[in-house]
Amino acid sequence: MSAQEYFDQGELVAVLTTQPLDRTLDYKAPEGGCFLGAFVEVPLGPRKVLGVVWGPGQGGFDLAKARSVIRVLEVAPMREEMRLFLGKVADYTLTPMPAMLRLATRAPGLGDPPSMRKIYRLGSAEPDRMTDARTRVLEVLRDYGGLAFTLKELAEQAGVTSSVVKGLVKQGAVREEDSPRDLPYPRLDPDLPGKALTDDQAAAVARLQAGQRSGDYGTTLLKGVTGSGKTEVYLEAVAEALRMGRQALVLLPEIALTAEFLTRVEARFGARPAEWHSGATMTERRRVWRMVGQGEAQLVVGARSALFLPFRDLGLVVVDEEHDTSYKQEDGVHYSARDMAVLRASICGARVILASATPSLESWANAEAGKYERLDLTSRFGAAVLPEMKPIDMRAEQMQPGTWISPSLRQAVRQRIERGEQSLLFINRRGYAPVTLCRACGEQIACDHCDARMVEHRFLKRLMCHQCGETKPMPDTCPSCGVEGKLAPVGPGIERLAEEAEATFPEAKIAMLSSDLFGSARALKAKIEEIAEGDADIVIGTQLVAKGHNFPKLTLVGVIDADLSLHGADLRAAERTFQLMRQVAGRAGRADKPGQALLQTFQPEHPVIRAILSGDEEGFWKAEAAGRQAAGVPPYGRMAGIVLSGPEVGPVFDIGNAMARNDAPLRAIDAQVFGPAPAPIARIRGRHRVRLLVKAPKGAPIQDAIARWIAPLRLKGDIRLTVDIDPQSFY
Ligand code: ADP
Ligand code: ZN
Repeated sequence: MSAQEYFDQGELVAVLTTQPLDRTLDYKAPEGGCFLGAFVEVPLGPRKVLGVVWGPGQGGFDLAKARSVIRVLEVAPMREEMRLFLGKVADYTLTPMPAMLRLATRAPGLGDPPSMRKIYRLGSAEPDRMTDARTRVLEVLRDYGGLAFTLKELAEQAGVTSSVVKGLVKQGAVREEDSPRDLPYPRLDPDLPGKALTDDQAAAVARLQAGQRSGDYGTTLLKGVTGSGKTEVYLEAVAEALRMGRQALVLLPEIALTAEFLTRVEARFGARPAEWHSGATMTERRRVWRMVGQGEAQLVVGARSALFLPFRDLGLVVVDEEHDTSYKQEDGVHYSARDMAVLRASICGARVILASATPSLESWANAEAGKYERLDLTSRFGAAVLPEMKPIDMRAEQMQPGTWISPSLRQAVRQRIERGEQSLLFINRRGYAPVTLCRACGEQIACDHCDARMVEHRFLKRLMCHQCGETKPMPDTCPSCGVEGKLAPVGPGIERLAEEAEATFPEAKIAMLSSDLFGSARALKAKIEEIAEGDADIVIGTQLVAKGHNFPKLTLVGVIDADLSLHGADLRAAERTFQLMRQVAGRAGRADKPGQALLQTFQPEHPVIRAILSGDEEGFWKAEAAGRQAAGVPPYGRMAGIVLSGPEVGPVFDIGNAMARNDAPLRAIDAQVFGPAPAPIARIRGRHRVRLLVKAPKGAPIQDAIARWIAPLRLKGDIRLTVDIDPQSFY
């Protein structure tokens, strides 16, 4: 069927809305008609809601009763490519279409006429009286030719208060004008000179650019040790996409990372790209959304949901640190931005670059199978060499109770302090202590709403639940037995480790880096810059530091507990530990001084620890792949996690049991159901959670079977069901 592209006034159109309905609704096309894909406002009961014209109306009811589309919004209609993409993601993740549309329209006031703001230019009149401040303002305006400034920009450039500018406006020496806020982004120039590349880098760039020029879909795994120049290399692929007039998207896992990255983009292309992340203002989000659709944002740097922006001609998606778990969205629509990037690119003929020093087993396996091209950068740029990795066998260390820095690690840190170099002590646990125990009755303080222990945050002087975020003051008496003064912290978190480091190295300057210690991304960024400039002898950090920051003076990484994530119930525990340890170790020795990484472990002979230490990555992956293949788990089998939750545990289990009994649609594809069982975290925010796991052979149509399996369910009351295809975490 050739899709009808335009509907005349009064013709019935099917509109997909953002409201949770299981179908499209019919409306009459408004005056002037509308295009397929048009963003529209439609009446729904007493309300006006956002929708997209999805096709011809279904009809089958009294036409006289049909209501009209209220208006067509002044934004580019949704392209066919995007409609297809949303539909496929919906099918893949078993998400209803309205939720997909909400994900694709996460910018408020999309259809509003662009709001205006004041801008300032050089006026024609002379001010009656000149002051130094006034002279500076006029000089700035003259220096920049015809350029307009916002009030804040102009005052800052000239180093004056805004009242000085306003005074000049009154005199006519500065002109004030209204200008639309949603301005196009400044042009990026791909032909500005880039850095001179090494032979390795140049070879990788040549391959990527050739792929880019082909104009066809293709995915490349760009694997390179930390500091090998992956970013430099993929920026050249971005340049090629821009030269071809296509748009590029760079996905990054952490907001904190973007600051350094934006500066690099600006250095390479002469202007900053558009940014899309949760920290952006509403106005900024709307500007990005609109400009991307009009092709007036050439490059977007963003978090995972940027993948759902309405690009006019997306030619390249880079997924940096592609193994990062934050690419998997775990509430609302459960999607993996990495996998959906590949899907989107295959629909619109774009290239994908998956960059990582420690790729996910999924991507490694796809490269092995020839589905992805693989490019390796094997050496660090310049003089930097990879750190030497060594275990510290904790069974042989003399430890005082309540301490975690072994004598061997202590000595290594001392050496660095003497040489004026930095050390990083890594522990992947926020707060002061993971457990607060009553020494009288043995009670461990738990959250009232979750099946989780409260974590002491001494910095905040509170206990916090890491599941629901609930906090409460540290009690003096045990909430269970009422005995006073017996509550004691057990185990280390980052704050407690910092305390130990302060006591052990009183002469050292110590900096803590943990996501919860900074009020804003900006404060965190400032701290990171201070540290990079050398303003700390010892950095104590959580996972946050593993991600891409450059600390040139850092030559020692001490991992406090390398065994910590080794024994999760998670099928990816080994992979995660391997990636995390190698990423963290990669922080050492980035500049001209060689680095060392010391891993405190009770099991130096554990195969994963041995693989980390030996650096035999291919060996590790092959062994891990063989294990997963034998167990039939991802990426060699398919999995889905089903979580049922409700205020009472009984009814939730009843549904779970009924599902397990009625598993015919799953058996039809040779899939197995495990459970129901209490989820590893059996209660969150007062809701009891029961989990079923579905395991199916690779290539089995698991979504289809699950859809048929859950379709007959009638969930009563407050019971909810979520499906997570290819789950990344099992909680
Ligand atoms: P990765 O992304 O692999 O960690 P980067 O691209 O961040 O590596 O490179 C590491 C450091 O080396 C950066 O400071 C980068 O600017 C620098 N660098 C890499 N390649 C070159 C090059 N060819 N010329 C100059 N500097 C380079
Ligand atoms: Zn809680």
